[in-house]
Amino acid sequence: MPNEQPKVQPETTAITSGRDASGSLAPTLWPSTTWQSAGLDDSTKHALSTHKSGNYARYSNPTVRSFEEAVAELEGAEDALAFASGMGAVSSVILALCSSGDHIVAHNQLYGGTISFLNGPCARLGIDVTYVNGSKPGAMAAAVRPGKTMLVIAESPSNPQMGLVDLAELGAIKGPFTLVDSTLATPLGQQPLSFGVSLVLHSATKGIAGHNDAMLGVVAGEKELIDSIWGYSVMHGATASPHDALNGMRGIRTLGVRIAHQCESALAIATWLSTHKQVTAVHYPGLAIHSQHALATKQMRKFGSVLSFEIAGGKDAARKVLDALQIVRPAVSFGGPETLICHPASSTHIGVDTDAQLASGITDSMLRLSIGLEATSDIIADLQNALK
Ligand SMILES: *Cc1c(COP(=O)(O)O)cnc(C)c1O
Repeated sequence: MPNEQPKVQPETTAITSGRDASGSLAPTLWPSTTWQSAGLDDSTKHALSTHKSGNYARYSNPTVRSFEEAVAELEGAEDALAFASGMGAVSSVILALCSSGDHIVAHNQLYGGTISFLNGPCARLGIDVTYVNGSKPGAMAAAVRPGKTMLVIAESPSNPQMGLVDLAELGAIKGPFTLVDSTLATPLGQQPLSFGVSLVLHSATKGIAGHNDAMLGVVAGEKELIDSIWGYSVMHGATASPHDALNGMRGIRTLGVRIAHQCESALAIATWLSTHKQVTAVHYPGLAIHSQHALATKQMRKFGSVLSFEIAGGKDAARKVLDALQIVRPAVSFGGPETLICHPASSTHIGVDTDAQLASGITDSMLRLSIGLEATSDIIADLQNALK
């Protein structure tokens, strides 16, 4: 068939996906919040339609739609829905799907904001949450209460522990919706939907947008499920900005080369760190010494730009390393051009109490690195100097 799309690698899909019909090679920015209709009946038609055809930007915007279509293609999804941030996606999806009296099974290695949302607003609304170590085979399925559990939430790889959840095992859970926060992998690192999971979610603020200049979240899955989340999200209002969606599209176009460099660099740095005498542990799924390396090889194409390591001397030593670095910058977030370092226990996960931190593997000795686009040798030299 001449019109059939050739089967290509995801790096190529990242270049071809989400294009509008205008012929413009750059995505088109539609800042408009409202569109003129062709009269009363046309207004009614728009008011009753789903998010593909909007007449008001909280319902749909063409620039945001391009970004959603690009992510859907990369994830092998029927549809996707963008949000103003990763947390906009997390909170909207949970509140779209769960009601008072429902139960959620959550991986105990989740983004700090997601844990705070589950422990705060969800608890207040009477949504019951059970945390389990999702890296343990069968643990998440075993915690499901038939007829009660509405949602199973995992993060893989997890931040900052770099633990994995077996995606095939998660996808085999029947009954509740299953969701994977795949932010650390990016759509080029793994495709959770191909393992039968219901929804894949990203903080596109990180690797997808990739330049530290856009706040953006996105969730992808079957059209019917995305439509029902959309029905709630227009009231929740965590609507993606077209300007950020434009930066998200720009990020998708360069994701392939960025991820290729970052993953290669992350592996080299993780390997180097694992030989350093001040370093007591290194967590990166691409390392052969990672306890789930075999699983990583099975379910991931790329192992990501984030790694964590532990140093002798605890928080004081961590502080000294942060102060001594000259190229690596102390900052939260990841996936951008700059290599960043943070101390998760006192920054990204400060809202998680110490016992829960320790139970999930976050110690005072742990530092998280987000590998950027600098020359790998310069980052290693900077770390070598700071670890002295
Ligand atoms: C940053 C992050 C989020 C939240 O995304 P925001 O865009 O900051 O709201 C959710 N999950 C993971 C894994 C993240 O790293």
